Amino acid sequence: GCSVEEVTAAVRAAAEIVRAHRDELVELDREIGDGDHGENLHRGFTAVLAKLDGGGFDGPASVLKVTATTLISTVGGAAGPLYGTAFLRAATALGNASEVDGPLAAKAIAAALEGVVARGKAAPGDKTMVDALTPAVAAAQSTVDAGVLAVLRAAADAAEDGAASTVPLVARKGRASYLGERSAGHLDPGARSTAVLLRALAEAAG
Ligand code: ADP
Ligand code: MG
Ligand code: MG
Repeated sequence: GCSVEEVTAAVRAAAEIVRAHRDELVELDREIGDGDHGENLHRGFTAVLAKLDGGGFDGPASVLKVTATTLISTVGGAAGPLYGTAFLRAATALGNASEVDGPLAAKAIAAALEGVVARGKAAPGDKTMVDALTPAVAAAQSTVDAGVLAVLRAAADAAEDGAASTVPLVARKGRASYLGERSAGHLDPGARSTAVLLRALAEAAG
């Protein structure tokens, strides 16, 4: 399982991968949105890093909870409240566990998706981060017994495929939906950032 230190390292890895993919995410959002997704997430995760430096976390859930509240107050746009809710629900799913094992990781990813759907009301196929998270949840749930690393790897793999599947879709939620049919032929920035974040968590857990 992953201890509080390992979960902290995983969130730091998420911040690092957001920095590495900032320009890509900006470019994707320029194509079908307003071009700020990479900037928004980078601002948020930079603030998260500063909070993590403060330390004082009594368990994995408290790391995710601080991540959530920081993202909510700094990211803005559509993605800020959505990712904030995702991390908040994941934190709640972890409860007071001192270690995150496979089943708990799968439960947290499922809770994150529920939070995103409760908040944003997007369905699979709407060309949003839900298209990356939904297959990630299914993949995580089918690997729970193989341990936390396998769960996160399966989730990241499935999220990458799910994100890629948004290319031909017409957006039905968020800013990209204003483009109607013209949103087809582009990768959804939020689905891409979800895949990238899950990959960072998987690599940190390995
Ligand atoms: P904004 O569109 O406000 O500039 P961002 O650019 O940061 O916000 O985030 C855009 C991403 O948010 C989209 O690519 C999409 O994946 C996601 N998104 C937008 N609306 C929703 C929604 N209702 N449900 C789920 N995800 C959404
Ligand atoms: Mg945007
Ligand atoms: Mg915006």
